[in-house]
Amino acid sequence: MSLRDLIRARVAQNGPISLADYMAECLLHPEHGYYTTSVPFGAAGDFITAPEISQMFGELVGLCLAQAWMDQGAPKPFTLAELGPGRGTLMADVLRATRGVPAFHEAATVTLVEASSQLAQQQRELLAGFDITHVASADEMAEQPLFLIANEFFDALPIRQFIRAGQRWRETQIGLSGEDLVLGQGPALPQPALKDRLQDTRDGDMVEYAPAVGPIMDAIGGRIARHGGIGLIIDYGDWRSLGDTFQALKDHQPVDPLADPGAADLTAHVDFEALATAAPCEITRLTPQGVFLERLGITQRAQSLATGLRGSALEAHIAAHRRLTHPDEMGNLFKVMGLFPAGCSPPPGLDQ
Ligand code: SAH
Repeated sequence: MSLRDLIRARVAQNGPISLADYMAECLLHPEHGYYTTSVPFGAAGDFITAPEISQMFGELVGLCLAQAWMDQGAPKPFTLAELGPGRGTLMADVLRATRGVPAFHEAATVTLVEASSQLAQQQRELLAGFDITHVASADEMAEQPLFLIANEFFDALPIRQFIRAGQRWRETQIGLSGEDLVLGQGPALPQPALKDRLQDTRDGDMVEYAPAVGPIMDAIGGRIARHGGIGLIIDYGDWRSLGDTFQALKDHQPVDPLADPGAADLTAHVDFEALATAAPCEITRLTPQGVFLERLGITQRAQSLATGLRGSALEAHIAAHRRLTHPDEMGNLFKVMGLFPAGCSPPPGLDQ
């Protein structure tokens, strides 16, 4: 049975489902989910992420994490963690770039938070030679200092969508029209979780809300507040969500999210304010990715790598640098938010 048939049967039996339930099924269904069955990343996949564009991204993230670790007195042991590592490229670059940092690798418990067993297997293969622990959710990480990176993780978390109706909200739901899955609106109901949004929205406005953000931020921020460490959260989105940002990508093109469940990547823009509100530790100002990478020295790193390159390899390298940093490319759309403990300085490249 296809995932479309499974979802249709579920809706026929129990009624319309929320967008969050639909996203969770499409992305993580154990047999048919997008992250279970596809190899979504890279030029040949449906989208390409910063670490897949250039090794410089992971190298600079690695040096940022290692510098923060030294600034906080090189605690031992500590967790070096990534949320949603995809193919494992980012962690591989982090580990390579930090090889020379005295005692960093010896003190690190490398922990990958990954829901897809298929991707966990790929990550183990790419990181063969390192002692890696996989956990399925952030609250399973060890209770010790935490130095964490999450790149394009939060945009994959299922969202609920609501349209304001007076003091109430109608939720976007997926229902059936004949044989087809269709979007519709549920009844107008009070939503205690959206209490604050009554202040900044008007009738008819749409807001999005990712229920998993609270528990995940609590797990990360709680460890950082209690034991020390930092978190780097990099994603596309902005300080507050307004409007419909639910999207499906296949072969680098937007497609109808309901057309072929499980076959396309489903994402939504990240509401960084919701992350900040849920974090029980200090947070930095939201900083554009391009600015963050420049502050960490991407231009010097790019120049030094360029000396060994000629012809098309050199052109690709220059294009990758531009793609990561230029405001018309990923430089402005992607934002960085840092997490750190009270009484410590913010992570390198970010300010309070
Ligand atoms: N960080 C990677 C890939 C991001 S894609 C990169 O930069 O290339 C999103 C990743 O998050 C995938 O590895 C996916 O399997 C994982 N993921 C999605 N939802 C998750 C969840 N709820 N819990 C844990 N991992 C999840």
